[in-house]
Amino acid sequence: MNNRIYLSLAHMSGHEQEFIKEAFDTNWVVPLGPNVDAFEKSLSDFLTHNSQLSTLNCVALSSGTAAIHLGLVLMGVQPGDEVICQSFTFAASANPIAYLEATPVFVDSERDTWNMDPVLLEEAIKDRLRKTGKLPKAIIPVHLYGMPAKMDEIMAIANRYDIPVLEDAAEALGSTLNNRNCGVFGELGVLSFNGNKMITTSGGGALICRTEEEAKQTKFYATQARDNAPHYQHSKVGYNYRMSNICAGIGRGQMFVLEEHIARRREIHDLYTELLKDVPGVNVMQNPSENYKSNFWLTCILVDPAKAGKTREDIRLAMDAANIETRPLWKPLHLQPVFANAPFYGNGTSEHLFDIGLCLPSGPTLTNDDIRKVVEVIKG
Ligand SMILES: *Cc1c(COP(=O)(O)O)cnc(C)c1O
Repeated sequence: MNNRIYLSLAHMSGHEQEFIKEAFDTNWVVPLGPNVDAFEKSLSDFLTHNSQLSTLNCVALSSGTAAIHLGLVLMGVQPGDEVICQSFTFAASANPIAYLEATPVFVDSERDTWNMDPVLLEEAIKDRLRKTGKLPKAIIPVHLYGMPAKMDEIMAIANRYDIPVLEDAAEALGSTLNNRNCGVFGELGVLSFNGNKMITTSGGGALICRTEEEAKQTKFYATQARDNAPHYQHSKVGYNYRMSNICAGIGRGQMFVLEEHIARRREIHDLYTELLKDVPGVNVMQNPSENYKSNFWLTCILVDPAKAGKTREDIRLAMDAANIETRPLWKPLHLQPVFANAPFYGNGTSEHLFDIGLCLPSGPTLTNDDIRKVVEVIKG
């Protein structure tokens, strides 16, 4: 490409093309096939490690967004229902709520992990019950930028009210909380294999199911909800959301470098932390305690203009001029015009983070010299 330093580029293991070639040679150029089965198994094996669950059943889908959509379908979300979602996230976390004509209820973040604040979550549940007479149908916490949310607290509240949790781990493959992988805490978990995530299938996602029955249901809905009959018979509305055997071949190849990618992104985060430690007013996001092990999908900084002598926006523009891609943190969904009418339970955290936060280039293709160049621009 050119000399621009990007936020997060994909990186291939070299094995991807072998699996794609195999698919072509055996004429499995279709959705389903041996690569899909093998990719699902290798994801499940990876996640089962330390999960305190004997088995997991990952279902490979066309995107992470599709996985969220089907997760909500499995949870029985209907038009008019409410679904609680973290406000500080990418729009894809909440859009599927709207696909189902349900209403998102946004909950703000806490300062330690930047993810769903358990205190506000419980407040929101109680208030929705008071105002609508009904409990929300599902809860969607997110592990933003790879940082695990406070899942113990969130699960305790969800269990108390008997509300299922759909865990958005799209950015958090390989992150752990108390040694358990993100994506296995909730009833269902979501992964994304878009081009900029931890691993890619060019585009794709997975729904992490605990039971075989849930996995079966997911596959049923993902392949047009065909009833068991020789002709095409349907008693439910289905979707065309399965991952193709070609994309799954890329995924199989990527599993060879997953551990390496996780290690490299953490190393990049450590290097930024080291190089920026004496820069006034610039703070690198850190694991709040040793129980949290973010994959550091993206390294993020907060810029205090009073101490730094410049704003986040000054830095972003200087980066762009130096041919370096950076981005403000996600704009909270309760501030997005499309969700302007959705209920919101806030404490100011996500708005503050959006004002002063910046994502730095963090992909596995970056060299240490690239990182030093980024740091020089921040200092300059
Ligand atoms: C990327 C992402 C998604 C959506 O995944 P796609 O595979 O791009 O559809 C959902 N939630 C979060 C937090 C994401 O970062």
